[in-house]
Amino acid sequence: MSEKLYEQNAYIKEFKAKVLAQEKCDDFYKIVLDKTAFFPEGGGQAADVGTLGKAEVFDVQIENDTIYHYVKDFLEIGCEVEGKIDFDRRFNFMQNHTGEHIVSGIAHRLFGVNNVGFHLGEELVTIDFDKELTREQLNEVEFLANQKVWQNLPVKAYFPTDDELKSTDYRSKKEIDGAVRLVNIQDVDICACCAPHVAFTGEIGFIKLLDTEKMRGGIRIILKCGKFALDDYRSKFENVAEIAAMFSAKQENAAEAVKKFDEKFALANQKLTELKKKIAELTVVSVSGDETCVFVEDCEVKDLQLLADKLHKKHGGIKAVFSGSEDTYSFAICGEDSELQEIFANFKSQFSVRGGGRGGMVQGSVAASRENINSFFKF
Ligand SMILES: [Zn+2]
Repeated sequence: MSEKLYEQNAYIKEFKAKVLAQEKCDDFYKIVLDKTAFFPEGGGQAADVGTLGKAEVFDVQIENDTIYHYVKDFLEIGCEVEGKIDFDRRFNFMQNHTGEHIVSGIAHRLFGVNNVGFHLGEELVTIDFDKELTREQLNEVEFLANQKVWQNLPVKAYFPTDDELKSTDYRSKKEIDGAVRLVNIQDVDICACCAPHVAFTGEIGFIKLLDTEKMRGGIRIILKCGKFALDDYRSKFENVAEIAAMFSAKQENAAEAVKKFDEKFALANQKLTELKKKIAELTVVSVSGDETCVFVEDCEVKDLQLLADKLHKKHGGIKAVFSGSEDTYSFAICGEDSELQEIFANFKSQFSVRGGGRGGMVQGSVAASRENINSFFKF
């Protein structure tokens, strides 16, 4: 069992410790130290990374209260090593984690929702609440949470006595084995938690609730705090600035500008479709009665059916209309049904065809070259 330095002081970046045990695994070693500032993965938070001497620590896990540091290099039992944790990364985790406590505490006090799941990874922080919250309610939670940041309130982590624990009303995400560690953010939240947090809420910087997802009668909230929130703002700012520049609009009007463009685009698309249809009709009109097969540009099957029908009515016989490119074509073939079915059976036997039909019309798609299709219909 190692002494958990991260429980006593979340700001320890470097420490000296003795190697108590090591276990060789596939291509790495699991190291146990007499004490450690490395936080092992737990309570939804990712493990710290860093170095032990020259050995890189790429994961830290806790099993039966023993903390294992996963390293690539051999470390001799009994030797003293200097541990360094990647503190910039850890501090960002502390900002996110403490922000999560504030948001969960306020949402619980205001709307009676319980945090039933928490995940803090390299990119994303999520909180799962057991009840749904509206956007207005979330906005209220977000505003009050940031107010608690501005007030720079102390965050205290401690192991209470049994009596203290009995008389304390605290949130707990699950049944806890062993001593309960409480994290108390003055007038905001008391929650059982084993992870490192910032000492004052001001260090969080900023709390932003982002997307939500509905889940099993509750809601998942994606939030970002501190550096994560700054990175998110920067990336969104750059995106909005680029979009606004593209549409010669002010940033605050970017969405409106895109919406207007989208409407114009839909209208232009509609006109284009109509024009294509007209061109296809003109192509068909110009076809002589002895041509069986005709190719038109960009037509859907339903339009091909209309065109094939028109051709058949005008000239009689089998009339096939194709549209597509690169050896894949949609088609409609119209004709007297018994003749049509015979030709279509032959067509299917020669090419890779999907589709069918009856009553004088077959349609579908075919994988074949324009040249081969043309040769087939020369009868
Ligand atoms: Zn916590």
